Parts: sequence; C-alpha cells; structure tokens
Amino acid sequence: MRAVFAVMLLGLSLVSCHASVRPHPSEDLTALRYRLTYVRVPEHAVEVEVEVALVRGAPREFLFSQPGAVTAVTVHTEAGGDDTLAVREGRVSLPRGARMLRYRYALDASIREQGPDFFQGSGDGDARHVAGRVYLIRPLTVSPGMRVELSVSGADALLPWQPDADGVYRLRGEDLVDSGFHGFGGRRCQVRLPDAVLDVAILGRFTHLSDAAVCTWLGKAAEEVRTVRRAFPHPRITVRVIPAPGHPGPSVFGMVRWSSPPSISISVGQDAVAADFARDWVAVHEMLHLTHPVFIPRVPWLSEGLATYYTEVARARSGRQDALQAWTELVGGFARAHEGQDSRTMQEAVSQDGFSLAVYWTGALFALHLDVELRRITGNTRGLDDVLEWLARRGSSSTFGAFGAAVDAIAGQPLFNALLERHLPRPAFAEQAGLLEALGVQNGPNGVSLVPARDSLLRDSVVGRRSHGETP
Ligand SMILES: [Zn+2]
Repeated sequence: MRAVFAVMLLGLSLVSCHASVRPHPSEDLTALRYRLTYVRVPEHAVEVEVEVALVRGAPREFLFSQPGAVTAVTVHTEAGGDDTLAVREGRVSLPRGARMLRYRYALDASIREQGPDFFQGSGDGDARHVAGRVYLIRPLTVSPGMRVELSVSGADALLPWQPDADGVYRLRGEDLVDSGFHGFGGRRCQVRLPDAVLDVAILGRFTHLSDAAVCTWLGKAAEEVRTVRRAFPHPRITVRVIPAPGHPGPSVFGMVRWSSPPSISISVGQDAVAADFARDWVAVHEMLHLTHPVFIPRVPWLSEGLATYYTEVARARSGRQDALQAWTELVGGFARAHEGQDSRTMQEAVSQDGFSLAVYWTGALFALHLDVELRRITGNTRGLDDVLEWLARRGSSSTFGAFGAAVDAIAGQPLFNALLERHLPRPAFAEQAGLLEALGVQNGPNGVSLVPARDSLLRDSVVGRRSHGETP
C-alpha cells in the first residue's frame, strides 16, 4: 500500500515539478529526518530528534531493535503540546498529529550501570562507541523506497554510511533496520586498497600504539581478504577500534554488524604494541565475514565456519604464516573444539550454543572438506573461493539452500547435500581423520607435519601464496 502511494507521489511530482515552487522531487519523499546531537554535559549522551510528519503515510509505529536502553520519548504534536510516551518492549506508537519525536540516550549512565559494552556503549576520554540498534529508533515497518535523512552534530561521527557534501546521510528506510556500529569523537585514519577504502575511528588512547600502526594492521588484514575474493567485497567499509584497559594483547574482541555496508568494531588491548598484531587473527576474521553473503535465516556454523577456515588460509596465502603453521592452527582448532563432544553429532554440537568452539570449528572442517572436494572434482581448477564469488554476484544476502546450489554449480554436479550428510548427522569431527590423511596432514607427538599423500597437491594449492583471489 505504502509502495503504491510512494510511486503515485513520485508520478505526481514528476508531472508537476516544472511549474511549481515545490521542493525537489527527491525531497518530497523523505519520510523521516533524524538529527543526532552528541552532548557532553553533564555527561556523554546522544539526543535524538526525528521529524515524523514530512509526508502523508509516514510511519507511526517505531521500534528500538534492542529494547531497554530508552524508556520514554517525548512527542511534539501539531497542536503545540508535548506528550511523554513510555517505550514498551522497545515499541512506541505515535498519536495522531505527532510532528516530532525526541529522546535522549544516556550513554555514560548506561556505561556506568552496565559496564562497558559493545552495544550499549564504551569508549575512552571524549570518544564513545555504541550500536545503532540500542539507541536509534526506527520505523517498525519500512516501505520500499522510504527515504530518511540523518545528520549529526556535536562530534565527528563514524557511522556505516557516507554523508553527502553537506554532511547529510541520505539513507533508505531499510538502512535503519540494522544501523550497525557508531563511533563518536576519537581520531581517524584511512586505509586505501586498490579497490576499497577503510575509514577507521580510533575511540580512545593507546599506551604504545600510534594511529598509523592501527591502520597498517587493518590494511594488512584487508589485503588478506583480497586473497580470497577477486576484489575487496565492498568499496568502502568502516572500522571502529576501541582500547580495552587491562588487556595487554592485540585484539580482544571483534564483531561485524550487517548494516549496509557492514560495519566492524574491534576492541584492542590498551597496552598492546604494534608487534602484537603479527599474530592477531581477529581483524582478518571479522573482515573475512564480508566475503560470504548474510545468510537468512542465520546459519552460524556456516558463516563462522567459512570465516574460521579462511582466517588460517588467508594468513598463509599472504605469507603472514607458513603453510605448516596454517595446518597446525586448523588441526589445533579441531582438537580444542572436539574435546568434550563425546559422540555428539555435529548437528547436536552446533545447536547447543550459537557461538561455541564447536560452531566455529565443525564449520571450519566442513568448509575445508567442501574446498578439497570442489578442487578434486574440478581437477583443482575451482574451489570454495569460486562459490563465494558466484554468490557475491547474486547479492549481499543468501540462504542456506542457495549456498548449496552455488556449491553444486561450481562443482558441475551434485555435491553439497552428500557432503552435508557426511557431517551434520554424524559424530562431530568424524570426517576429520580421513580428510587430513588424504591431504597428508599428520599430527604426531612432535606436532603437525606435511607429507606426500593422495591430495597433497590440493592441500598446497589451498594455502599457496597469492595476492588476490584465484583458484587454485
Ligand atoms: Zn566470526
């Protein structure tokens, strides 16, 4: 219904714009206008103001995707009054005549009460990190073509999107459904790849690390992603780096949110030194999630399995670790995750907890098996990289079934379901021994060694040095 209305409105404005003083047609369709203000007094907060009556049929039902942080909003009505509405289960229903919605997200109060948190808020000095889903209200339903304008004052912000020359973010309504990670204040550095840019916000002080060292580290991780795909998966992404006090090591924790484009945030030990980044796997792991589509509905063992497998493979392809080290990491990961699984099937192991070791490493074993089988069937001319490339040409999201179809298309014959049957209903890691033996990856008392075997050529192709994605 709303789509029809929007199309009608567009038609009307196209035939009438030549003779009228109406605003530019694109302005006519802006359904919501957000103004965010980063405030420091008495403590850090974000004040949000949303104009909600710009077009007929504008949304009246609103939602905080992650409820709880904002409990009330003020609604300004056409009659000039202000009403305070309680937010119930994250939802707000606007009364008739509502023109403006206002509320304040008490960022520092949230950090004080909950502790620093990737979603509700964290940061250092004047810089803060927060997830849009916590504080940025959004329409409950988003009609196709809905346009939204958003502007920020009070601090330099790093949101997933890029503002226009006037500093205005011109968004689609769907961009607010997962609005990703946001950074306010801090410092900036930029990574330039041949085919992409990473805009980086450093949200606090490091004892030893320079901003340049942070960007060099992220740049190397991004280059490693390019060993899997023919080009970096997005022309521009944003990365927020948050110092974690009391952690000496490099990355403590990282996460990618499926905003459009995706946004990445990583916390790094405040006392880390640049040399620590040589062994870091978190940045490349998070960026490797950009090489696969978003699976709807989610299939954590598949997405984490792909990223975990490629974390070792990509670091070998770039030369950051040698082939033996990559296989040692894979075998070690399988062993850690296998402990305590008894005779549980892979299906049981991955359904216990969304993000257990078993999810990551049964998925990684399956990804390895897929890659090897694809290479074997195609005479080592095609592999798992080609499946990701094939899917990327078909959009940023996919399904489990479409992933299987992509595997079969690259194989040129049915493969996916048969391989799945060898993993999911059988004891977790049951396929590991046979697969590693065929690859010539031996795990003995003195560690992992690589020996000639039936598929050792495929093994060496998987981790062979390269600067950008190509099979073998
Ligand atoms: Zn992951």
